Amino acid sequence: MTALTRRTVLSGAVAASAATLTLALSSPAQAAAPLSGQQAAGWYRYKVGDIEVTVATDGVNRFKFPDGFVSNQGREQVNAALSAAYLQPAPDMIAIPYCPCAVNTGSRLVVIDTGTGEANFKNSKGAAGQFHGNLKAAGIDRNQVDVVIISHIHGDHINGLLTPDGKPAFPNAEIMVPAPEWKYFTDDGEMSRQTSDRMKGVFAGFRRVFDALGRKVTQYEGGKEIVPGITAVATHGHTPGHMSHIVSSGKSKVYIQADVTNLPIFVRNPGWHLLFDQDAKMAEETRRKVYDMLVAEKMMVQGFHYPFPALAHIEKSGSGYREIAVPWSPVL
Ligand SMILES: [Zn+2]
Repeated sequence: MTALTRRTVLSGAVAASAATLTLALSSPAQAAAPLSGQQAAGWYRYKVGDIEVTVATDGVNRFKFPDGFVSNQGREQVNAALSAAYLQPAPDMIAIPYCPCAVNTGSRLVVIDTGTGEANFKNSKGAAGQFHGNLKAAGIDRNQVDVVIISHIHGDHINGLLTPDGKPAFPNAEIMVPAPEWKYFTDDGEMSRQTSDRMKGVFAGFRRVFDALGRKVTQYEGGKEIVPGITAVATHGHTPGHMSHIVSSGKSKVYIQADVTNLPIFVRNPGWHLLFDQDAKMAEETRRKVYDMLVAEKMMVQGFHYPFPALAHIEKSGSGYREIAVPWSPVL
């Protein structure tokens, strides 16, 4: 056994630094490379039959979660669940990713949800507001997008409809919005009855974005194929008109869930009520129904708030479910 003493370690270190010095003097190209400090472009592509789906992350929002973040659980339980799922940057902190996607059906280029908006890139020091940059990195030209489908009107799904100077970010696209969502959020009576600052903010955000677009949208209903290969499913609860979307081609399908769950801790604990679920009871019923279906049909799910690339298989686990992330495929 070799005894590694302090003396041998030190003399080794001296020898090593002398060698480094010699190298540095004789060959400047051997100098340490500078640290990058930047992540790679965040996009991932996969096929659903003949259709190409490209997930392009909008980044992440890290914050100290408030009391009541899960209304029917204490801070301790939330911390424990985040930690058990290896999803916690630090105690009392939460990191919520955003994963919108583009769907190329072959005849139509579709974007489903739009992230927090390019203006937020600067505001968040690059942590979020990345969607448009990542779409471009994936070779997708926003001017070629034919349709933008919105799942619901929360800011992290609609703010990317506008450029930082308030112009349409997808100038040639038809914007499709769930009809029940549109009815609710355009209703002045509903707006006037809001008491919480958060909900007042949601109404104001909705008006800011869609007024800038001249409220030019196509409303759509659940249970209908709204673009060939993309069917809307009513999954109300998170918001009054929240919708999910099934992309299908041949025998393949993926369920683009939007906010049926937030982070996968709500997959594992479907009975937990997230602060942002407007009708928490309805949201839970929807969640259980959708996840039972995903298990029964063995359908993959694309989770807007799952960690990127946010694509998973779902299994039953105890009284809830668990997500098994789809491994990166180096080929399509
Ligand atoms: Zn969301």
